[in-house]
Amino acid sequence: MTLDPYAWDAADPLAGYRDQFITPDDADVISYLDGNSLGRPLKRTAELMDEFIRETWAGRLIRGWTDEWMEWPLTLGDRLGSVALGAAGGQTVVADSTTVLIYKLARAAVDARPGRNRVVLDTDNFPTDRYVLEGIAASQGLELVWVRTDPGEGIHPSQVESVVDERTALVLFSHVAYRSGWLADVPEITRIAHSVGALAMWDLCHSVGSVPISLDEWGVDLAVGCTYKYLNGGPGSPAFAYLAGHLQDSVRQPIWGWMGHRASFEMGPGYEPAPGARALISGTPPILAMVPLHANLDMLAEAGILAVRDKSQKITSYAIALADEWLKPLGVEVVSPPDPSRRGGHVTLRRPGFAEILEPLWAKGVIPDYRQPDGLRIGPAPLSTSFDEVHRGLAVLRDLLG
Ligand SMILES: *Cc1c(COP(=O)(O)O)cnc(C)c1O
Repeated sequence: MTLDPYAWDAADPLAGYRDQFITPDDADVISYLDGNSLGRPLKRTAELMDEFIRETWAGRLIRGWTDEWMEWPLTLGDRLGSVALGAAGGQTVVADSTTVLIYKLARAAVDARPGRNRVVLDTDNFPTDRYVLEGIAASQGLELVWVRTDPGEGIHPSQVESVVDERTALVLFSHVAYRSGWLADVPEITRIAHSVGALAMWDLCHSVGSVPISLDEWGVDLAVGCTYKYLNGGPGSPAFAYLAGHLQDSVRQPIWGWMGHRASFEMGPGYEPAPGARALISGTPPILAMVPLHANLDMLAEAGILAVRDKSQKITSYAIALADEWLKPLGVEVVSPPDPSRRGGHVTLRRPGFAEILEPLWAKGVIPDYRQPDGLRIGPAPLSTSFDEVHRGLAVLRDLLG
């Protein structure tokens, strides 16, 4: 593999998308490698926000709810389903935060499996997933079954096979492990959960917008994810939840709010869930924070998730090649799967003392992120990052270590 970034950029069919993002002229950032934590804003997003505030919010005022806002959680959910999730309409909503949706869906799932008292999870899942399940287990008298995952890899089907049985209500894992970047075999693990009658839930935060997803085809029961990473929705943009259509009558989320009611504006006595995915909603949806998603989903639909994945595999392989050439001799280890088909959109580098390197890197305009212990994550968002940007960032890291 050539290490010349210009050769890679010249051959990149998605290179033109970089121009659609806002990169201030006076930017002090020479290499942004944290698209897996917070995506960059689109120029179109700034326009849409401005239009929305001046024209739609200011102009339509309360009438906006009857015009279209009531439908946004569902229409945007459907669009996301078709562009990025492999989900047919009527199964996905945009709402809340990932943490809150993990609670709502996991609680709904265990309630739908009465008589089963175990939930399977892994030691290296994202903290919020583990904490929320701990809370549900404590309040519902459930037992957590921990699979010990290798922090350089992630969950394997054989590990799931060895712990699930007729006591298992739910398994919850991440599609892409937030530390190593390990890409889980979703259809196989879902099949294993189903073979004992358990439900399978997936956290898609680190895969959505970067790795192709086929929720319907894989038979996934429930899924959640956020929109501020590879979907560039902006800090704190809302999350999404997927509940397979065939489960919508039997799986009931626990936060019964008026916006998930069959007739929100009748304001009647007693909760009656809306039919379909709307029942996943609890309170007033964060409409303003959904505006950027329109621009991002248009862009992703145009670029195509398969092309995004292709670039993602190339640019992470390129980062690994640079790390092998420059950083390995300086004591840096690559702790992500070397096989691009087993890896999501980021690569983790490890070296004792990396916690102290973050500040000097930021001072030189290089922004990766840091995860305990000693892990520097390189997350080049495919639509906004050039090979040259990766080259520049890792060169600065090399010089700081050397
Ligand atoms: C980013 C991320 C979250 C974030 O949850 P929030 O409620 O948005 O803070 C959850 N799970 C995973 C796997 C993540 O990567």
